[in-house]
Amino acid sequence: MNNQNLNRRKFIGSGIKGMVVAGLSVSAAAEILSSCNTSKKIITLPKGLSFDQKPLPYPYHALEDVIDSQTMEIHYTKHAAAYSKNLKEAASAENVASNTSVESLLGRISKYSMKMRNNAGGHYNHEMFWNMMRPKRQGNMPSGELALEIEKHFGSFESFKLQFSNAAAGRFGSGWAWLYVAPGNVLKIGSTPNQDNPLMDISTIKGSPLLGLDVWEHAYYLKYQNKRADYIANWWSIVNWDFVNSLWQKAI
Ligand code: MN
Repeated sequence: MNNQNLNRRKFIGSGIKGMVVAGLSVSAAAEILSSCNTSKKIITLPKGLSFDQKPLPYPYHALEDVIDSQTMEIHYTKHAAAYSKNLKEAASAENVASNTSVESLLGRISKYSMKMRNNAGGHYNHEMFWNMMRPKRQGNMPSGELALEIEKHFGSFESFKLQFSNAAAGRFGSGWAWLYVAPGNVLKIGSTPNQDNPLMDISTIKGSPLLGLDVWEHAYYLKYQNKRADYIANWWSIVNWDFVNSLWQKAI
């Protein structure tokens, strides 16, 4: 059996359930599965985020008392939903196929409008952000090889937290702080304005995002008002290090 057939078998074996877990909508997964029935068709494995907003991976109250339920609900159903909707509008107006992965679009975002840039970035950033968090844990920190890698690049976990927190606190106005893998598998910390991110060809920091923190006021203002530093300090107890680790494994 050649590799292509082997991959095809593995792929079909995983079925709709596996693809939905991997982030595809049920209809997209069903469409890909049905295409597998045509034996001579070459199968392209799905890769990346779609333009659709996925369900939040936990209830609105799950991140209490770090992020309150009302903030989560408004953030997800209003702000993030608007990025997805406006991305689809921009894609339609600028002839971008609706099955394009958001990641590939971000890599050539300089070719499109500011509406595309803001909303493709906003959609990607939020879809990732929800998964980068989980219910609060005491002593929450990375483990295994990722923990060693963070120590290697930043001296210690505490030093990493301090540098990342400074990047988040120091972002003037709205934007994001990032831990990302730069070329050469180097872990770096940086920040981007607005809804930009390190996948964008126009970004001054470039690489694969591992962890992002939304420091727009809409992410914290109801509970923290002007105290961005308190939001950042509390946020460390809800970072989903298992998800960050999975992104790191994919990136290297
Ligand atoms: Mn946001």
